[in-house]
Amino acid sequence: MTKRDYKPFYEKGLQFECTKCGKCCTGFPGYVYLSETDIEKIAEFLHMNTKRFLKKYTKRVRVFNENRFSLTEKVHFDCIFLDKLCTIYSVRPYQCRTYPFWKRHLISEREWIKTGEFCPGINRGKLHLQNEIDNFVNNVPNYDFRRFSYDPSDSTGEHE
Ligand code: SF4
Ligand code: SF4
Repeated sequence: MTKRDYKPFYEKGLQFECTKCGKCCTGFPGYVYLSETDIEKIAEFLHMNTKRFLKKYTKRVRVFNENRFSLTEKVHFDCIFLDKLCTIYSVRPYQCRTYPFWKRHLISEREWIKTGEFCPGINRGKLHLQNEIDNFVNNVPNYDFRRFSYDPSDSTGEHE
């Protein structure tokens, strides 16, 4: 079978509509990675320069052999921006915007069903077509800040 013939289990699309239960923003330790664009958009939304934003709301983590920024957490592993609902919703990171359509949840129908046992938005509401889902998976941004166009640790506010 060629790559072209391959049909994923979601070829007819998948239903998902967030119920805003907030479960994916709290409850267990995890990382919310930030791309360069995420950092700039959130900092602008908060009327901060990028350096101040990174210092106040993020930590550096080393994963998959990359240096990344991740949002910090409050008690009980609440995301730093969770206050019942997401307080930066309109500029939330790519990782949040594309949940639950992550590669690891789409590896098989079984994985998707398993994700649905956690996320009540799965299998309800809007139908997302294969094209849209593939776009989410194929356009994951670069999270390794060594490859950003600027060095966030040296930022002096010029990205404000
Ligand atoms: S767990 Fe699912 S339904 Fe609940 S907030 Fe997250 S995406 Fe929305
Ligand atoms: S940024 Fe918003 S959507 Fe993302 S984990 Fe934090 S509270 Fe949830």
